[in-house]
Amino acid sequence: MSASKADAAGLPPCAFFFDRDSTLSHDPGYLHEPERMALLPGVREAIDDLRRRGCLVFLFTNQSGPARGMFPKEDVLACNRRLAELLGGEDVFTRQYVAWEHPDDPPPNYRKPSPHFIESAVAEFGLDKARCWMVGDGLVDLQAGLAAGIGVVRVTTELDRPDAAELCRKRNLPSIADMRELAAVVGLE
Ligand SMILES: [Mg+2]
Repeated sequence: MSASKADAAGLPPCAFFFDRDSTLSHDPGYLHEPERMALLPGVREAIDDLRRRGCLVFLFTNQSGPARGMFPKEDVLACNRRLAELLGGEDVFTRQYVAWEHPDDPPPNYRKPSPHFIESAVAEFGLDKARCWMVGDGLVDLQAGLAAGIGVVRVTTELDRPDAAELCRKRNLPSIADMRELAAVVGLE
């Protein structure tokens, strides 16, 4: 097995798939100006901690603004570059998965709650689903993680969405109000 796909003990790396808006960064609604990109409290520290542990960090975000004709894709990509910069540099994310479709587009549809991009990363990077987590504030984030068969963690730092809260109650899924709780809540410490 190649060194890039396993740690010293031969285990695949732990991996986290992060929603963007209201999870890593403040969500003003269809953000498209990079200068308005702002991290939520505790996020930088949490990502630094995961990377020190050798975890892979992925971005998985639905961005339908361009499909709605609101702004070009390049604006979203500029915001994502700014996000990576605020988190420590362009190599923070192993891969950025952006689902560009309009919610009304016909299949195939890569938007959350589709697990397509998670499954794709698991295959490409040789991940162990038992060591993967989807992290987000929205119902679709949780649904995508569950559909992929990986762990899920709900974040309520900026928003506490009732539909996501209800799913967490029904399925006994963890919620955190501060991203710095993430490693502990998934059992990494
Ligand atoms: Mg969100």
